[in-house]
Amino acid sequence: RIAYVNGRYLPRSEAAVHIEDRGYQFADGVYEVCEVRGGHLIDERRHMERLLRSLSELRIPLPMPLSALSIVLHEVVRRNGVRDGIVYLQITRGVAKRDHAFPPAGTKPALVVTANRIDPEKTERLAADGIAVITLPDNRWDRVDIKSIALLPNVMAKQQAREQGAREAWFVAADGTVTEGSSSNAWIVTGDNEVVTRKADRTILKGITRTVLLEVLKSEGLTLTERAFTVEEAQGAREAFITSASQAVMPVVRIDGRPIGNGAPGLLATALRRDFHRFAEES
Ligand code: PMP
Repeated sequence: RIAYVNGRYLPRSEAAVHIEDRGYQFADGVYEVCEVRGGHLIDERRHMERLLRSLSELRIPLPMPLSALSIVLHEVVRRNGVRDGIVYLQITRGVAKRDHAFPPAGTKPALVVTANRIDPEKTERLAADGIAVITLPDNRWDRVDIKSIALLPNVMAKQQAREQGAREAWFVAADGTVTEGSSSNAWIVTGDNEVVTRKADRTILKGITRTVLLEVLKSEGLTLTERAFTVEEAQGAREAFITSASQAVMPVVRIDGRPIGNGAPGLLATALRRDFHRFAEES
């Protein structure tokens, strides 16, 4: 098991970052998670575009050209023999004496890349059963559109879900509408077969899976609306599901204990899960 750390490929057990890395001290960094399928990266270009945006919002320089970064991503996947799973990359503002303000110009951003296998059969079994979701007040900051490594509210939410036998927590804004999951985007299908997901403003992370799925829906001529929905509307919906790079389309069968539709994974969600990869770019 090999990790890439600041220019070197190392066995994971020997891979380490500096104690004054600003990612470690301030969560001053960004990340991306890209699906690996059949040894290929899925939608790499879109993930790289979002990475550039996150970096620029936080004024962290890119540690190497994108073409070089792409080689590192593929190399870590290859060296770990990952056919199906994810590749994780993290860029922090680098190593400097602890001070909240930015370090001196020229401080080199730190780059870590790892890859992990995910058993596709396990994910398929999960999708066949559908998952339970709980809802929690959205207590995050107002720039969750940046894919920052500062994930404490997400960590607490996911743990609470886990403790209640659920796989995901949906964050709920002060106005009662669902923003997104702790590590996924949230969707419903209404009784009129209208597919609904929140508009990608600063209140959610604009998921790559979300963007690609919107294209799938358009190509299939389905009615889709980017708007907010409440927990009550979701509980009364025909179907619900989540999207993320690591799980693609995952049906939701319970929200706060209430069964969605007939309590089984939705037909549309299941079909979209099947269709999704036909629209994804492989590299
Ligand atoms: N929202 C949040 C908060 C997430 O962490 C993720 C997964 N990284 C997503 C949405 C889904 O994004 P993507 O489809 O790009 O994985």
